[in-house]
This record gives sequence, C-alpha cells and structure tokens, in this order.
Amino acid sequence: MLLRHTTKEVKERKALTVNPAKTCQPVGAMYAALGVHGCLPHSHGSQGCCSYHRSALTRHYKEPVMAATSSFTEGSSVFGGQANLLQAIDNMFTIYEPEIVAVHSTCLSETIGDDLGQIVAKAKDDGKIPEGKHVVQASTPSYVGSHVTGYANMLEAFVKYFAFNTNEKVRQVNLLSGWVEPSDMREIKRIAEIMKVQNILLPDTSDVVDTPMTGKYEMYPKGGTTVKEIVSMGNSMSTIAMGEWCSKKAAIMLDNKCKVPFTMTDVAIGIKASDRFIQALSTAGKVSIPEAISEERGRLLDMVTDMHQYLYGKRVALWGDPDTLIPLTEFLLDLDMKPVYIVSGTPGKRFEKRMSEILCNKLPEAKVKNGPQADMFLMHQWIKEESVDLLIGNTYGKYIARDEGVPFVRMGFPIIDRVGHSYFPTVGYQGAIRILEKMLGAIMDKIDATTPEESFELVM
Ligand code: SF4
Repeated sequence: MLLRHTTKEVKERKALTVNPAKTCQPVGAMYAALGVHGCLPHSHGSQGCCSYHRSALTRHYKEPVMAATSSFTEGSSVFGGQANLLQAIDNMFTIYEPEIVAVHSTCLSETIGDDLGQIVAKAKDDGKIPEGKHVVQASTPSYVGSHVTGYANMLEAFVKYFAFNTNEKVRQVNLLSGWVEPSDMREIKRIAEIMKVQNILLPDTSDVVDTPMTGKYEMYPKGGTTVKEIVSMGNSMSTIAMGEWCSKKAAIMLDNKCKVPFTMTDVAIGIKASDRFIQALSTAGKVSIPEAISEERGRLLDMVTDMHQYLYGKRVALWGDPDTLIPLTEFLLDLDMKPVYIVSGTPGKRFEKRMSEILCNKLPEAKVKNGPQADMFLMHQWIKEESVDLLIGNTYGKYIARDEGVPFVRMGFPIIDRVGHSYFPTVGYQGAIRILEKMLGAIMDKIDATTPEESFELVM
C-alpha cells in the first residue's frame, strides 16, 4: 500500500536514487570508534548530521550512543570549522574526559575543504590535547561511498595512529571483525577462545552497545579494544581481516606500517565462509580445530538436512552491505535456495564480480546491482516483475514485505523495528543456525497463515 506507485517497468537511471540501500559514511565511522575503549566519536560538521548519525545507531542498538559535534553555524559553513573543532577538542577533554577522540568529517566540512590533520596538529601544538590522550581523525565525505566506507576509513585511521612494531613478535593474531553486531563480536571471541588462539579483536563493540542494565550510566562502558591492545597489534604474528569492504584497508595499513601479514576472508556467515574463517584461525594460530567446533558444524548440517524441504527452490531477495551479502548468497545457494535479486548501495566494482563468481554456475539468471542506483525502488520493481518467497535485509524492506505479502527476515543495518540482533549472533556455525531458524520461522508462518483448512498441518 505504502509503495503502491512503484512501477513494474525498470528504466535506466543515472542520477536519481530512490530509497537508498545504504546510509552515510560518518555513521560507520562512529560505529567503528565505539568499538575502541574510552573513545568519544566526534562529528566535524553541523548538529543535524551528528544527531542523525547518533540516532541511526541508537535506534539500531537500543543504547544511548554518545558523540560530540563541531556545531557548525553559518559562519563556519562559509569560512571553515577550524575554530569550532579546536574549541570542541578542548571542551571534550575538559568535560567528558575520553581517552581518545575520534574525529570524522562530514559532507559539509569536506566541501569547505577543512584539513582535519592540520587542525588536529594545531590542537596538539596549542596544548589542547592532554598528555596521554589522543585524537584520531578520518576523512568521511558522505557524497562518496557509504556507511561501510566510513567504517573502513575510521578503522584504518586507528591502526595508522596506534599500531606499532617494536620488533618483538607476540604470539597473537589480529582479528578485524568487519561491521557485525556486538553479538557477533562476542561469538568471534568465543570461537577464538575455544580454539585457544590468542587474539586482539578490532573493533569490539560488545559490552559497549549491548551493556547490561545496572541503574548506573557509564559514559565509557567496559568494552572496546584498548589503546594498549591496538598498539600491540603491530607485533602480532598475522591478521585475519573479515570482509573486504570493511577491513581490507586496515589490514593493508597494518602490513605496510608494521609488517604484519594478513589473510583476507569473508565475514563468517553460513557454512563455507565459517569454514574458511575457522581454517584461517587454525592456520594463523597454528592450532588444530577442536572437536567442539566440529560438533557445532555438525549440528548446523543436521538442521540443514532436516529442514531442506522447506528451503529448496525458494526465491529470495537480499539487500544490504557487500561483506554480508557475499557470504549470505553463498549460504543460500548451499541450502538450494535461489537468491534471485541482490542490491547494495555501497559502491565497488568487485561486488558484482565476486557475486558473478558465486552465482554463475548455480543461478546465472540472478539480478545483482550495487552503487547509487541499486536502491530499494529497483528491488521493488524487480519483485513486481516476478515475486519472491522471502526477503532478507534491513528494516527498510518492511514496506515491500507489506505491499507484496512476502515473509521478511531482518538482517543487516539498520534494524529499527525489532530486537535480537545485538544478542544473537549470525556468524559462525551457531550464527548460521540462527539465520536458518529465522528463515524457517518466516516461511512456515506464511504456510500456516495461507494453507487451506483441509491441508493445515500441526506437525511440519
Ligand atoms: S549531510 Fe552528509 S554527513 Fe551529514 S547526515 Fe547528510 S549524508 Fe551524512
């Protein structure tokens, strides 16, 4: 009903984006910064930008996300925001006492041409950064890239600023988690612990955006990767970078700056991507794969076998971030499902190439698009041409789900109308069981709701 004006006919668009399948760079920069202990994100732009970034994260994580802003006025919008940022740095360290301030730029400050590096250097020269405190900065103009790009840029900035090679190798592995939920970060640490691989996870938003209710407000919760840990990443044996779009830049920076080699792997969603992650962990940590992990995999395969009949041949539409969509598509194909429509607002030529490698033999008719015109409008048009059995993506798909009467599994960012994503992981074998459970629940609810009375089954 809400999208009843969506037309079936797809027309080539060059400039217009309708309902984008992405959000803005600073949102990602802010999320990455929250995964560092004692860090206060700072948005160098107007209050409106900062309010939007904070509310996007607050609505998704259901936690009060703190961040400061340079509070641009008309004057700073014309003449530049240096004075505002210098004052803000002074205020933040005086009033809120963070260990680190992570400054990201916005469309406005980038358009003016503010040089964050120069302003932060001046703040240091002027004595506005107290001894032992830090200001990290990343350029995040939102008229290019997406929230994923902003995340990657901020992660790279942390590594560039802190990681340091003292030529004393430490028997530990760096894990760059990619943009996943705090529940997923917990799961990655749990798997590494079972495998007895000493590691440093960056960023780590568990115990930051999923904190328990204690009745006491903590501006800097106990979670997050510490400065000491990020510094020591420069002495690690190797890095496993999960998700090319989110983590590759930081992995390359660690390699270039500290000579820490890296293995690139997908975010561990589904069977094959989890296998690759576990194998990478085993190789990097020089450990064998314990029985407990094999058993988790076995339970997943058992569930797949039991429920295959309900999943076989189901047509699925997906949208979201490349690092999630790639392993998810692979997982759906492993289940004999048909991921027929896939869009991501995040640009990058490698996406379609990677997708065609995954899909070519199994589902060559699948439609895949990314970049600015790969939006929810296009997705709806494709669905109107030929419908699907299941939608998987962020909350913005609920309009299509309602209009077309298609079961909908919420996955990705943002999810602002349901809970659970912060608490139940979707990575690893356990996470794959969670995805399966959600897909089966949605599909079976539809069967129950639409099956004629004479065929209605109690046992499925
Ligand atoms: S103006 Fe740019 S940085 Fe600010 S909220 Fe909009 S897209 Fe994001």
